Amino acid sequence: MPLNHTPERTLDPVEQFHDCLEQSWLAVSRAYDASSRMPDLRELFSGTNLSIPDQAAESVLVNILLEVMENVCRFSPWYTCPPRAFGLISLRDNAAACTRWALAPEAIQKWEAALAALSEAIRKYNGLIKAILLVDGLMARSEEDDPYVTACCSCMPPRAIQIKRSILIKAEILCDQCRQPYLD
Ligand SMILES: [Zn+2]
Repeated sequence: MPLNHTPERTLDPVEQFHDCLEQSWLAVSRAYDASSRMPDLRELFSGTNLSIPDQAAESVLVNILLEVMENVCRFSPWYTCPPRAFGLISLRDNAAACTRWALAPEAIQKWEAALAALSEAIRKYNGLIKAILLVDGLMARSEEDDPYVTACCSCMPPRAIQIKRSILIKAEILCDQCRQPYLD
């Protein structure tokens, strides 16, 4: 054992799964001179079928490639490359009457290791991923249904607060100066 050996940190399942995703994200980003933060899970898993891990891993990689493609450094030779150069092909899905992106054979080969790791993680953390996606989806929905609004009181000039619409409707919030309610 080398002298500077540091004990491996134990990661909890959420971290382990995130770590696996991040490894793929970084590998693809590096390969195509892109630098940006990894998008959230909902984006990475959009359109994936978690019950078929191998297929889901490919969909996640497609989403990673699409995102990376958008974030290629302006000075990189990859900047002007078409999707095919990134290993993406568009397929016509007649059943859904739309086109979708898929991995070209050379991309499946190039990212074999990443796909295997993703597939294993999807198999292993299936329930966890579903739970995270569910919570994220619910939170996004509540954000859409109940947006923040700017409410003003009757002061001159009026004072303004940012507040969730549902709270504004439920509770009458009075300005401590003019004693009038904040209105949307
Ligand atoms: Zn006021």
